[in-house]
Amino acid sequence: MVRPLNYPLEPHIRRHGPQGYTSHTSCQPWLRDEFAFRCIYCLTREQWFIKEGIFQTDHFVPQSISPEDRLNYDNLLYACVRCNEAKKNLLVPDPCEVAIHAYLHVDADGVIYAAHSNAERLIEILRLNSRSLVRYRRQIIKTMRLLENHNHALFVEWMKYPDDLPDLARLRPPFGNTRPTGIWQSYFAQREHGELPETY
Ligand SMILES: [Zn+2]
Repeated sequence: MVRPLNYPLEPHIRRHGPQGYTSHTSCQPWLRDEFAFRCIYCLTREQWFIKEGIFQTDHFVPQSISPEDRLNYDNLLYACVRCNEAKKNLLVPDPCEVAIHAYLHVDADGVIYAAHSNAERLIEILRLNSRSLVRYRRQIIKTMRLLENHNHALFVEWMKYPDDLPDLARLRPPFGNTRPTGIWQSYFAQREHGELPETY
C-alpha cells in the first residue's frame, strides 16, 4: 500500500554530485531528483502543488554559518517554503540521517512521533506537529485512502511522479559530476526504461 506521508526507510545516501554551478537554479533539477520531488522535512510533494514558489533550495549548514558552502551540492537540500522558513538560520539535525521511517512515524491522524532524540529536535525546530500541519497531513492521509479505494485514476494523479522529470544526462555541470552513475538511477532514466513505479 502506498502511503503518502511515510518517511524513507533508510538514511538518504546522495546519488548525484554536480560541481561548479554558480546558482541554485542550476542545482534544482538535481535536487528535485535527489529528494524524489518532495520536501526532505515534511514530505510535501510537488505533485500536490504548483511547484513554483513552493519548493526551495535549503542549506543544511546555513549560509550565515558557512557562506563557502552556499553552492556546495552536498550541503543543499530540497525543501518546501514552510520548512525552509521555519529552519531559518538554525543548525538542525541532519535530515538525511534522521528523517527516516525508523525515527519518524506518521500516524493515521497526521501526528508525527519521534523514536530518536535528534528526530524529536527536528520536529520541534521545524514545528512539524503544529496544529495546521497535523490537520493538513490528516486530510491528505484520509483523502488518499479514500481515492485509493474508490477512484484509482485520481489516486494515481496525486501519488505519481511529476510529468516533468529532469533529464539529468543532458546537463553539463561546469566541474563535472562526482557521482555520475546516479544519472542512470534517476527517475527520468527509470521512466525511459519502463521501470518507474506508477505511484510512490
Ligand atoms: Zn516541508
